[in-house]
Amino acid sequence: MWESLNLKDVVALARDPYPSIRQWARDTGKKVVGSTIADVPEEVIYAFDLLPVTILGTHKPLKKAPSHLPDNACSLARSNLELALSYEGDLFSGFVLPQVCDTTQHLSDIWRINFPDKFVTSYLAPRQADRPSARYWVKEEIERLIDSLGGWLGKKLDSGALANSIALHNENKTILKEFYEIKRNFPGAITNKQFFAMMKVSQQVDKAEFNKSLKAIKDGLKMKKGKNYTDVVMVGITCDPPEIFDIFDDLRVNIVGDTLVTGTRYLQGAPALNGDAIDALADRHFKRGFFSPIHDNVYKNFEEVKKLYKETKAKAVIYVHIEFCESQEYDLPDLKDMIKKEGIPMHVLDTEYQTTSLSHVLTRAQAFFESLKGGSL
Ligand code: SF4
Repeated sequence: MWESLNLKDVVALARDPYPSIRQWARDTGKKVVGSTIADVPEEVIYAFDLLPVTILGTHKPLKKAPSHLPDNACSLARSNLELALSYEGDLFSGFVLPQVCDTTQHLSDIWRINFPDKFVTSYLAPRQADRPSARYWVKEEIERLIDSLGGWLGKKLDSGALANSIALHNENKTILKEFYEIKRNFPGAITNKQFFAMMKVSQQVDKAEFNKSLKAIKDGLKMKKGKNYTDVVMVGITCDPPEIFDIFDDLRVNIVGDTLVTGTRYLQGAPALNGDAIDALADRHFKRGFFSPIHDNVYKNFEEVKKLYKETKAKAVIYVHIEFCESQEYDLPDLKDMIKKEGIPMHVLDTEYQTTSLSHVLTRAQAFFESLKGGSL
């Protein structure tokens, strides 16, 4: 199903992976388990012979979600709930729902009430990750998830299957990192849209198959430098709809680094393969970068962005703000202030999952990059 895709297929799949996941589930007879972002150890779900799918909204219209959520719930939460309630709910046999912010905390209860016949469990990542007890907490949560999945399926987790799952997921991340390196150095070889489509699809399909496609695509890339690219760093949680990447591609803007939860943060801290697997998965939690809802040193976000900006020699920072994301709205004013004081050009891009027109994004991005070339912002 996913072992011989080309780049065009991957881009199409990123826009709507669900028909293909449905087909896969029919062909294999396996169960599909959905999770919202972030930090659910998908390796554990996969090791139970299930397909973990990160749910990243729908572009179809909102019909039911608004009646379950307040008007100021973030557009990602609305879009995810709509996907489950109106469009793809029947595809999933279960859900593992992390609670990372107030919105997701309420959302997981709404989800549980609306899907009484499915397996639904929460995954409680610690929000104060700098406390000494946080690591103990993460390990306990991973073990609770294992027990919970095992109880549902009536079987124990096979330690060999978990080790294989971690190895497979690590392989996927290694390949994606190689693509990123190519993209940084040869922006003409792969577009922003193609690259972030690979990142997204990696979080939604069976990597045992998809890794084969990724390797073949990588081997077939033509290393083209391209001309007149402006390198930028993208900061935020997710970037959707994917047509935003078309705007950057058309403006010859190359994303050379990012802090997205669906981007580089997904690739960080690959669990070690030579020790206890659950310890390794718990350790990974503390090797990942900044994520707005997780309480941390207030300067960490800024320091990470500054470091990435300098290391990649980018020309600007693009901050992707998800409409009504309370966590981002809390962080953004301080971040903006610190970035401005540092003299780094920054553009804030407001996104909304159900957006149908991106003309306002295009106009503002054009103006920003024009003034960037002119040297004053
Ligand atoms: S972190 Fe922000 S985008 Fe994510 S669910 Fe919470 S409010 Fe929504």
